[in-house]
Amino acid sequence: MVQNKVMGLIVQKYGGSSVADADGMKRVAARIVATKRAGNQVVVVVSAMGDTTDELIDLANQITPIPIGRELDMLLTAGERISMALLAMAISNLGHEARSFTGSQAGVITDSAHGRARIIDVSPGRIQEAIKEGAIAIVAGFQGVSQDTKDITTLGRGGSDTTAVALAAALDADVCEIYTDVDGVFTADPRVVPTARKLKSVTYEEMLELAASGAKVLHLRCVEYARRYEMPIHVRSSFSTNEGTWVVKNQPEGDIMEQAIISGIAHDKSEAKITIVGVPDRTGVAARIFQAIADADINIDMIVQNVSAASTGLTDISFTLPKSEGPNATSTLQRIQGEVGFASIQYDDQIGKLSLIGAGMRSHPGVTANFFAAMSEAGVNIEMISTSEIRISIVCRAADLERGVRAAHTAFELDGEPGEAVVYGGSGR
Ligand code: ADP
Ligand code: ASP
Ligand code: MG
Repeated sequence: MVQNKVMGLIVQKYGGSSVADADGMKRVAARIVATKRAGNQVVVVVSAMGDTTDELIDLANQITPIPIGRELDMLLTAGERISMALLAMAISNLGHEARSFTGSQAGVITDSAHGRARIIDVSPGRIQEAIKEGAIAIVAGFQGVSQDTKDITTLGRGGSDTTAVALAAALDADVCEIYTDVDGVFTADPRVVPTARKLKSVTYEEMLELAASGAKVLHLRCVEYARRYEMPIHVRSSFSTNEGTWVVKNQPEGDIMEQAIISGIAHDKSEAKITIVGVPDRTGVAARIFQAIADADINIDMIVQNVSAASTGLTDISFTLPKSEGPNATSTLQRIQGEVGFASIQYDDQIGKLSLIGAGMRSHPGVTANFFAAMSEAGVNIEMISTSEIRISIVCRAADLERGVRAAHTAFELDGEPGEAVVYGGSGR
């Protein structure tokens, strides 16, 4: 971090649970003003209030089951607009000038993929002007404008984190603070594991795996962005003044000493499993299936192919994918069923994914054995497995998932003092 600046530039992001109602807005406004009064320039990114985004999606679904991407994005960005204007009012009430900006006004330029747009450039001229003139800039999170179509886009669920880090990088901020409803990044989701421990620091590498495996405390792309620009992130609670978790390139020596083999356990209930039954075991068949899936723009996660029974020459292929892609994937596969010649498709949305993450795994070969023993003791049946250098993931029944997370947490001696993992707000939705 830059130490020799007289004034710091801090980007703060407040999530939906931090600004769930008028009192929350006022509490957050006071905190922002205090940061400004301490001599910093402040840029704030804000999310939609409480569960507004979910409610807007529900509303759209009452009109049509498959809303048009452009219009859904237009609808959802309204949530963040409400927040930014109210927050600017609350700050101005406290005697400070605040100016709110939509993502487009803040110069967040994206590609044109509605609902999951990628930021391709940030030109924050108006934000720089505002802070130069002494104002606090408030930016609507999770949104931008497409370079090609000039339409309004959204960055995917949880995307305000990415807005914050992208702006912090473009403004060359000293730090990006992510304020949420828990005290930092924990060894597991505090809503599931009451004895979870707060991590003092975590590397970008580990945080990427945690975020990719379902720990929604940080949006995956925000961590990718932070790693690329080496922007330090401080994840902390807007409801307490406790020091949070630093997401950094290299952990301080002291934190490494303290660290267990496993840094964290993530879980994810948002995926489903498709099994293609009776697939002819011939060269090129898997390629044909996954080409069709890719052409339909469906991201898949784990894949398992069974050994074919010699007598039949048929095999089964299973893969996991986001539940939201289920209908698209099923109809895509049905279209190529005749050509490929498989027997049937099974769709299962009652699965859960549990992942162990830790750089310490590289040098500890016994992790998999301990993990599987813990799952077996907890009565959790393992249906699929995938690994990376610093992660092991399994798929199990959704109903067994939380029990499995708690069992693994205990087995790897991650349990801390009860009471450390406070959940201050949010509905967990
Ligand atoms: P916000 O509205 O502030 O963006 P989110 O709901 O997106 O908040 O993210 C915070 C939530 O992430 C926490 O309330 C917690 O339930 C969940 N979470 C999942 N895994 C973790 C973890 N390892 N550490 C902390 N929080 C986690
Ligand atoms: N409001 C958006 C969502 O709920 C973006 C965010 O909160 O980060 O996904
Ligand atoms: Mg979030």
